[in-house]
Amino acid sequence: MEKKPITALIRDLPKVELHVHLEGTVTPAFWKSLLEKHQAAESVPSLEELENRFQYASFDQFLEVFRDIIFSFKTPDDFYDLTIHYLHQAAAQNIRYCEVMMTPWFVVQRGIDYRELMAEINKAAREVEASHDIEMKLILDGPRNFGKKVVKEVFYMAIQDQTGRVIAVGLGGDEANYPAEDYLEEFDYARAHGLQTIAHAGETAGEQSMLDTINLLKAKRLGHCLGIPKNSELEKLIEKEGVTLDLCPWSNVNTKVIASIEEHPMYDYLTRGYPITLNSDDPGMFGTSLMKEYETFADLYKPSAEQLGTLAKNAVNGSFMPEGKKIELIREIDNICI
Ligand SMILES: [Zn+2]
Repeated sequence: MEKKPITALIRDLPKVELHVHLEGTVTPAFWKSLLEKHQAAESVPSLEELENRFQYASFDQFLEVFRDIIFSFKTPDDFYDLTIHYLHQAAAQNIRYCEVMMTPWFVVQRGIDYRELMAEINKAAREVEASHDIEMKLILDGPRNFGKKVVKEVFYMAIQDQTGRVIAVGLGGDEANYPAEDYLEEFDYARAHGLQTIAHAGETAGEQSMLDTINLLKAKRLGHCLGIPKNSELEKLIEKEGVTLDLCPWSNVNTKVIASIEEHPMYDYLTRGYPITLNSDDPGMFGTSLMKEYETFADLYKPSAEQLGTLAKNAVNGSFMPEGKKIELIREIDNICI
């Protein structure tokens, strides 16, 4: 068989995305249209001004812009528009399955009805799923900076979901000041109600945060995972517990958590045999996409087809999709990557 050029291989690879925030899929153009929908045209910043806000000097500044975007959502059908916007982009990248994070609490506490919000997201997903080969599930992400009570409220919302899309809960935000040990009860509570659990760890805090997130919170996937020392206790624990590592390289560069893309440990991790996946995190806000994450990996490290296949299969195996669907997708990936 003739060897495919790497860009064609990446395009054709059936992809799974496990770490992407619905709110973070907002692009400057989408943000502009959202502002125009709800306020007088003359008060809406120009596209250029909005694009400039997407350059972050620090992780905190990124969180500020994230908050401003969330405050621009006023009605449940804004989330219909956003879900359509993201899923069309995802389907165009041959993403077949995604577990999308969102934090409904941010907009529910500002007056949007939770059931209506979920109904709009579900309607959008059903429409795109009917016309494209893609499936979307949801993970409700607890904002740790807002404390235990809010995280519990988010997890309670996950339990109340009636759309059948919510399969897991997570924890995001400032892990250095709001450590894993504070959320034990909340994670137990979610699991007792049949939900899977994941968490951001190793984004802005290091090894101990990842150890605690696995040992105490029993998270099945970690988001970001920067700073895993070779031959460490953490490395052994990841293997023993079968934890998947969801890496978000361009996100870490954009929020200045690492100084350059070359500093990201993605290739080191792959060669050490860690079960890593590539993800876009907040693609609209970082000008990235899952395709771009794969293409960057390929440009920097010239991986073999087999290595790219491993990345794609890690995402299938680390997902919460049914076993039968995993087997089908893995077979398809193997056929392409031989
Ligand atoms: Zn994230």
